Amino acid sequence: MTCGDVAAYLDAFLDHEARARFDVASLSEHAGGCASCATRLAGFFRVLEIPESAYLRETLDELAIAMHGLALAVIRERVDPEANTDNMVPVAAPEGASEDLARQGAEMVDDAEDWAGSSRVSGHDMAEFRDVIDDAARSRERKLDVAAKVCEAASRVATRHLPRVLNLLGAVRLWQSDVDAAEAAFLRTLACRDADEDGRRAQVFAHVNLAYVQRQRRRWDAADLSARRAVALAEELGEDPLFGLFAQLCIAVDRVADSGVGAVERVVARLIALPSGTARLRDALALENNKPVRDALRDAGIGASHPALFDAER
Ligand SMILES: [Zn+2]
Repeated sequence: MTCGDVAAYLDAFLDHEARARFDVASLSEHAGGCASCATRLAGFFRVLEIPESAYLRETLDELAIAMHGLALAVIRERVDPEANTDNMVPVAAPEGASEDLARQGAEMVDDAEDWAGSSRVSGHDMAEFRDVIDDAARSRERKLDVAAKVCEAASRVATRHLPRVLNLLGAVRLWQSDVDAAEAAFLRTLACRDADEDGRRAQVFAHVNLAYVQRQRRRWDAADLSARRAVALAEELGEDPLFGLFAQLCIAVDRVADSGVGAVERVVARLIALPSGTARLRDALALENNKPVRDALRDAGIGASHPALFDAER
């Protein structure tokens, strides 16, 4: 991958066919290590840099993480039968109630304004953040629409939480079946440079989620590569490779007619070998959204060799 490839990808961004020819994971890997491409991507997606003030930086970091938590809390708390988010699309765990997180976010907006002496803080109109946060607490819109707005707003600031915010934005877009927007968000997640530990975890998740994007497009090799990258990176970081392996399993199951049942069995064996592997795989398979995977596994004869995976149904 070269700087030219990144430029060509962005040129082709609005042309779905042309864009499909690029390997997004390799592009983002390049951008993760190349300052000029990281800048080009940030410019393309209009991410505003924060000026060098430790106080303001911290305040905007806090604002971003409160908004990230708010989006997660809205998804978890609100009942919306049309939005089924129970699947293996990985995002960070929820960390509080939406009410508290909205209040924290509003406080950070106040602090940033006080610091700057106006509602414009390093190019941001803080009133916009206030509106998005207020809306999230009150509006009766669908929860995924609310979460997307909160994440979009938080993703406009180059805080250290940007990888987490972008992975969540991508997951919300995936749940909304907006595959192109999801891909863009995961690409941006992977292109974040100098990610801290949480950020690198979000990048592992983004590789998994990118595998689901490519799976939806039936680009099997690219999907499998993304899932393998997720597993390798998770292992490198000492993180749980469960999500990446589960994505690999879904892909192996989809391709069973071409690649054979052996590939499926190998992934199942790796999942079962994880700590509490059988129980966790069983729980993942029991999710309503994973019914097609569960049925396909049983059709492939996995039920006979691993009956405990299907215990929940007996
Ligand atoms: Zn470059």
